Formats: sequence, structure tokens, C-alpha cells
Amino acid sequence: MKKINIIFLGIVLGFTLNISPTFAGYIRANGFTLLPTAWDPGLDTARVAAGNPAPGGASWSLMAAGILADAVDPHLDNSTTDFLALLGQTSTQASAFINSILDIWDDDSAFTNLGEVDDGGSSFGASNGAGGHLGDIRIGAIFIDGNVGSNVLAHAYQPCTNALCVPGGSIGGDMHIDNANTWGDGTGGTLDLFTVMLHEFGHSLGLDHSDVLGSVMEPIYAGARRSLHSDDINGIQAIYGASTSTVPEPSALILLLSGLSAIGFFGRRRKSIT
Ligand SMILES: [Zn+2]
Ligand SMILES: [Zn+2]
Repeated sequence: MKKINIIFLGIVLGFTLNISPTFAGYIRANGFTLLPTAWDPGLDTARVAAGNPAPGGASWSLMAAGILADAVDPHLDNSTTDFLALLGQTSTQASAFINSILDIWDDDSAFTNLGEVDDGGSSFGASNGAGGHLGDIRIGAIFIDGNVGSNVLAHAYQPCTNALCVPGGSIGGDMHIDNANTWGDGTGGTLDLFTVMLHEFGHSLGLDHSDVLGSVMEPIYAGARRSLHSDDINGIQAIYGASTSTVPEPSALILLLSGLSAIGFFGRRRKSIT
């Protein structure tokens, strides 16, 4: 499988890597050592007042086109384009597609995917008070660096307090996908959007890059991933604990069924990558 340099960019805040002695391949940014790395209301009362989220859970939303990147973001002058255009999806297909990816992390840990909410439409990184962003993990397509050379495909911010990320704002969890790459299911010369978003959601939930080859969280795109490596599971469970249920939630069943008709490759999500 062709490898491309520097495909994924983790948190954009400067990070010095610190290897956990408990999970050899599980690397976290030491800038977050003393600060929250998991989704939790904490001091963020605006999120609590919105009924969203519970500790250990996060909602997500799709940013509309035209939302500017924040000053903390590396592509400051760009604004989002239509996410649905990346795969030519309807909003229903995109919702099922994204839930099926986030549910992989949900299924193997006590993290809870709270599902899609309407995006508040505020600027990337803006405060979520007073009708702000609403989605904990906001997802948008944007021009990052094109599709040649040192190609960053996407990036996401780890969960964090408002003050840490942007004064008065909350960029934690938010994700940008480079709209200049050719996205697909990894066949026919396309890049697999499912795999890239599975990796980026790992960041959105608090994981940093791993040095374990074959893991979802390795920093270089190396082909399709449809399930978590044991190293990824160790990492997500270190943050949220082990899964408390092995029975799929009703919403997950509905999404799986709708996904089968909508996209076609959800049935492969449990297939391990070789
Ligand atoms: Zn990454
Ligand atoms: Zn960005």
C-alpha cells in the first residue's frame, strides 16, 4: 500500500510526545497531562445547560460551508466547504456514515456517542455560549494543503477546556478534512475517508498518535482500517474505561441497517486489516 508522508496531523497545539509506561504504543501529548483529555462537562456550563453532553459522551455536528477557521488553526484564511460533496452523500447517508465510524470507538469503550446535533453555525473555535456551536465534535471540509507533497489529509483537536484551546471558545474535538484530496472507500486510487475519520475521531476523543504499526492511531495513512487494533482499544479504555455493554444500542442497529442501504461497506467494519 502506498504511503504518503505526514498524512495526519494531530492536535495543532505544540506537543512533545510522552510515552505512557502502561501502554507502550499509546502516546499522549504531555501538554494535556494536567488537563481534561476526556469528554466531560467540567466547568463548561454552557454544554451542561444545553443538556449535552454527559460525562464520557460527546455529540457531533456537521459544519456548513463558509465557516472560517479560527486564528489558532493552521489554515486561518480558509473556510469550510460542503462536507457532503466529499463522497457525494446525502445528509442522511453522511449521518449514518459518521455514526458508524464514531460507534467503533463507542463499542470498545465506555465512551458514548451522543449522536448528531444541528451545528450552531458559529465560527470554528468560537464560544459555545449564547447559541454557539452546539456540536461537541464539529466536522467540516476545508482546504488544508492540496493533494501533493507533504500531504496532510485531516486534523482534529483533542477534548480540552475552553481556556486551553481558544480563550472564550471551544475548538476541542473539532475536525477538518482536506477537501483537495480524492476521497472514496480506498479503492480506485481514492483515499479512504472512513479510515481517516476513524483516526481523527481518536484524536477528538483524546488519543494522540501511536507508534504501533497497524494501529488506527499510527500517524501515517497505510490503507483501510475498519476496526480498532488492541493498542487503540488500550488507549481509549485508558481514558474512558471498558465498555459496559456488549449489546448494540437500538440506535446503533438502526444506523447499521440504514448504512447498509446507503453506503455499502458497513458490513466490513468488523473485518480486521491485514
Ligand atoms: Zn493523527
Ligand atoms: Zn483546521
